[in-house]
Amino acid sequence: MAAAQTIETGSLPLAIAGGRLTIDLDALAANYRTLAGMSAPAECAAVVKADAYGIGIEHTVPALAKAGCRTFFVALPAEGIAARKAAPDAEVYVLAGPLGGDAIRTFREHRLTPVLNSKHDIEVWREAGSLPAALHVDTGMNRLGVTPSEAAAFAAENVGARAIPLKLVMSHLACADDPGHTLNNQQLESFRRVTALFTGIDSSLANSAGIMLGGDFCRDLTRAGIALYGGRAANEGDNPMRAVVTVEARVLQVRQAAAGSTVGYGATAKLDRDTTLAIVATGYADGYHRAASGSGVPLRKAVTAGANGFVAGGRVPIVGRVSMDLTAFDVSECGKVSPGDWIELFGPNIPIDEVADAAGTIGYELLTGLGRRYQRVYVHG
Ligand SMILES: *Cc1c(COP(=O)(O)O)cnc(C)c1O
Repeated sequence: MAAAQTIETGSLPLAIAGGRLTIDLDALAANYRTLAGMSAPAECAAVVKADAYGIGIEHTVPALAKAGCRTFFVALPAEGIAARKAAPDAEVYVLAGPLGGDAIRTFREHRLTPVLNSKHDIEVWREAGSLPAALHVDTGMNRLGVTPSEAAAFAAENVGARAIPLKLVMSHLACADDPGHTLNNQQLESFRRVTALFTGIDSSLANSAGIMLGGDFCRDLTRAGIALYGGRAANEGDNPMRAVVTVEARVLQVRQAAAGSTVGYGATAKLDRDTTLAIVATGYADGYHRAASGSGVPLRKAVTAGANGFVAGGRVPIVGRVSMDLTAFDVSECGKVSPGDWIELFGPNIPIDEVADAAGTIGYELLTGLGRRYQRVYVHG
């Protein structure tokens, strides 16, 4: 097997960082190919908004382009400029559409394509003089997009010299992660009626979970996000994607705590036996949510236990509250742990969605909130 190559980015050197993020670009590419296969015959686009869900747009986009991805979606023009730099030849759609000010100049200069979300966006874009755009139609989410009747009016009037050349008609599913939800088919039906008015123009409806719904949900172009990065898209069933991100943090100290004593702020964890604690250099400032604490989170009702880490061959639970920079884990039951060891917070041994569940949130929020105190290492084969 060829030795893995690593690229260390301009982030923190390991010697002065509390944690490290390892991003497996081969797993990312494999996930892209899996989703492209599931989308076929539709094309699969990659959603790389929010710095590619926190893992870094400048490395993610070239790796995806190399895996065959030709179309990218970002949320904001600023992200579009970064995506354009990383993929000179790709199609880049900006979901927020043209913002105010110099929008047209920015989109033209960086060859970005706006998604028009309102009648106002359409008016703004007419002034661009025949530059291409996508149209977003709201089919039941009430977030962004023109209404189906506004779309019909636009289809009728968008003719002649002042017509906007449409490249794509899109909508977004509210409940694709719940395959049995009635809104899925309602949205598909509504979208079918709209797209019938735009003959010859590609259409796009599915996010990651929509790809897993399959069939006509995939339309001409799918928009894969979380599944590319290894997160769970559908609420039920096994996650078929490979883990892309591994988050590890440094053990600062290992201490013996006596039965009957307490751990951390609020003294919310009272030890019922002598316990070996690893005090780890991570906390909520690193995006390791306080809501994932082992105890002492009064508002957390849905889950009773906190998150686990993985070290010395074993799963180890958080003890007490996660604080800003430090978290205590019970390492009494695993192999020997020493200061300087690295504990996995999520990755191949601890699925990201398990930590998200423990924190009462979703993998998306964990990834996009990872923070700036990690060394970042990108690995490829
Ligand atoms: C974020 C987003 C996606 C990607 O969603 P995932 O659930 O991460 O796959 C697709 N389309 C739109 C409009 C989005 O905002």
